[in-house]
Amino acid sequence: KISVTGLVKSYGDNEVLKGIDVEIAPGEVVCVIGPSGSGKSTFLRCLNRLEDITGGSVVVDGVDLTDKKVDIDEVRQHIGMVFQHFNLFPHMTALENVMLAPVQTKKSTKEEARENGIRLLGQVGLADKTEARPANLSGGQKQRVAIARALAMNPDVMLFDEATSALDPEMVGEVLQVLRDLAAGGMTMVVVTHEMGFAREVSDRVIFMADGYIVEEGTPEGVFGNPQQPRTQDFLRKVL
Ligand code: ATP
Ligand code: MG
Repeated sequence: KISVTGLVKSYGDNEVLKGIDVEIAPGEVVCVIGPSGSGKSTFLRCLNRLEDITGGSVVVDGVDLTDKKVDIDEVRQHIGMVFQHFNLFPHMTALENVMLAPVQTKKSTKEEARENGIRLLGQVGLADKTEARPANLSGGQKQRVAIARALAMNPDVMLFDEATSALDPEMVGEVLQVLRDLAAGGMTMVVVTHEMGFAREVSDRVIFMADGYIVEEGTPEGVFGNPQQPRTQDFLRKVL
């Protein structure tokens, strides 16, 4: 479970998150939508302390990330993150990319990591690409390797920041399908996305952010079908 209370994040005197309160339950799929610059990525990055938090607290499975004594590397091992750009190691094969973290952190032996990596690449539809290097993979394939790599640490939560935004349109579907499968498998997910159709179909809850606040949240039917706040209505009018 993730509990965010009064989360404030500033860069210098630019307050980007202005007091975010949200709880994310195990198995929940939460999509975060909102205009550019509203603080969606910053919010996501605060959930695994890729950003230092200015105020408030983020508690992940009972561990307060603002506590300086917390071993953040340990916490991050339970939180998978997938970005717009895949950041795969170019000199390694798909399988080597997926095996790296479990072996480096001594979570698995090389043999275990290999077996698990082959299984995960199969799960994302890349059983035949284990030996391919990133340069020989399409954008959608690379992103699916990146997802398998995050899953290799057996995370409790997966964070996605516009995982499909850098892809050619014909590759968006294959990556969203992997997210759909993960959601159906019960993974806890926080998904920042511009894919409104996906958010509507897959979320348990939709959060609309603007100007560093959560302006509105609710079921996809509620937020998309019957938005209450003028700001939400205005945003949805523009993007739908
Ligand atoms: P987009 O939809 O374009 O990805 P976003 O909702 O993810 O937008 P953020 O990237 O969280 O928005 O940015 C929110 C605000 O914080 C922006 O005004 C941005 O300029 C500012 N910001 C983000 N990262 C930094 C940083 N490292 N240093 C200074 N300001 C930053
Ligand atoms: Mg962003």
